[in-house]
Amino acid sequence: MFDNLTNRLSRVMKTIRGEARLTEANTQEMLREVRLALLEADVSLPVVREFVARVKEKALGEEVAGSLSPGQALVGVVHEELTALMGGDLGAQASELSLATQPPAIILMAGLQGAGKTTTTGKLAKLINAGDLLQNGRKAGRKKVLVVSADVYRPAAIEQLKTVAAQVGVDFFPSDISQKPRDIALAAIDHAKRHHYDVLLVDTAGRLGIDEAMMAEISMLHEVLKPIETLFVVDAMQGQDAVNVAKAFSEALPLTGVVMTKLDGDARGGAALSVRHITGKPLKFIGVSEKLDGLEAFHPERMAQRVLGMGDIVSLVEQAQRNIDIAEAQKLATKIKSGDRFDLNDFRDQLQQVKKMGDMGSLLEKLPAQFAQAAGQLQGGQAEKQLRRTEGILNSMTPQERAKPELLKASRKRRIAAGSGVPVQEVNKLLKQFEQMQGMMKQFKKGGMGKMMRAMGG
Ligand code: GDP
Repeated sequence: MFDNLTNRLSRVMKTIRGEARLTEANTQEMLREVRLALLEADVSLPVVREFVARVKEKALGEEVAGSLSPGQALVGVVHEELTALMGGDLGAQASELSLATQPPAIILMAGLQGAGKTTTTGKLAKLINAGDLLQNGRKAGRKKVLVVSADVYRPAAIEQLKTVAAQVGVDFFPSDISQKPRDIALAAIDHAKRHHYDVLLVDTAGRLGIDEAMMAEISMLHEVLKPIETLFVVDAMQGQDAVNVAKAFSEALPLTGVVMTKLDGDARGGAALSVRHITGKPLKFIGVSEKLDGLEAFHPERMAQRVLGMGDIVSLVEQAQRNIDIAEAQKLATKIKSGDRFDLNDFRDQLQQVKKMGDMGSLLEKLPAQFAQAAGQLQGGQAEKQLRRTEGILNSMTPQERAKPELLKASRKRRIAAGSGVPVQEVNKLLKQFEQMQGMMKQFKKGGMGKMMRAMGG
């Protein structure tokens, strides 16, 4: 996501930051590069024009020219303007969901067919149910969530929501294609009230294009439900079309925000940068994987930082905290520190912890550009793949073999290789790496960090 844009912009920022003096020439050059980078990322033209004009105005202003390090100040301006462009000017809370109402807080999900509405409904339900949603910058705490589908045109859609709800562990209110959407909505509200649900998420029918019947139906649902949030789900891969569809919807329906899906598959990301400016509605969430934990709150400031190659460490840490079992991690850390025998069972536990942190790609992307580039060979799902292979090998061993790797002689290695579908060399490589790791841990026990660094050749 945003790969090219991040690459280009981080290069431009690095150059300008290093300039001792800002001249007309190097400022113009930077603006030209920024403009090209944005256009190439498929940011819509009026948005690019206005953005560049604003940066230019500030670049010539006293704040930058009078600064001790004008290059640095100019990078600051670009960051500020990017943040504003993506909705940062609406305040930190603009990208949050407001659920402060008499329960149930109703969230209406709208969008074209295939945009990712049902998947997003499930992802959002999971986030809210787990208490991970932010309210005024703090975690909202666990909520009781009910989901319902008002899509009476595709029986499969109702089934899909039912499946997703079961996967994320929230309650599903059954509906049927013989019912009217309005009746489904009323019945769901009634049920949610009587059973004290905090939040009701309503998935709706999507069409292939915007049509009057669809608009009339969703407007009617909006009237009946009186949702506190009306989210429009769009597919980032549609680029500028996504933004135009969102605009048409925002004119017909009082949207409170946009969710952009499939950013993991969209290397350009221009739609995410344009949508706020064109529709006037904040982008609240982004879909970054088809898995049900692949939804992230959208923070304009952090995203601007990321796009400029400065990484987003805050989100990285949050993601890790959300997914890691702290007690389990501490047990492992203590074991490593105490120098107790660390065996392949522990190694496997450690891998599982890493895997739980989430999609490798989405973690790597949050590192500053120079680190991400160093990890470059791991990108494009490589890290994920390697992790799965290593796990496969470990899983093909018996617990006893993992506890005593010295048992692993040739015939056992062949069995493990066959069991995990890799060549024997790969099993050997893993064992060798493991031995080195063990060696390092012994050093750690004996001589602490300094000695370990020397052992690593540092
Ligand atoms: P709906 O018709 O709008 O309800 O769309 P669905 O929820 O059925 O999603 C359509 C397809 O997009 C499914 O295959 C989803 O797995 C996929 N999808 C949804 N969101 C994302 C995302 O953020 N990333 C990726 N890679 N796929 C997604």
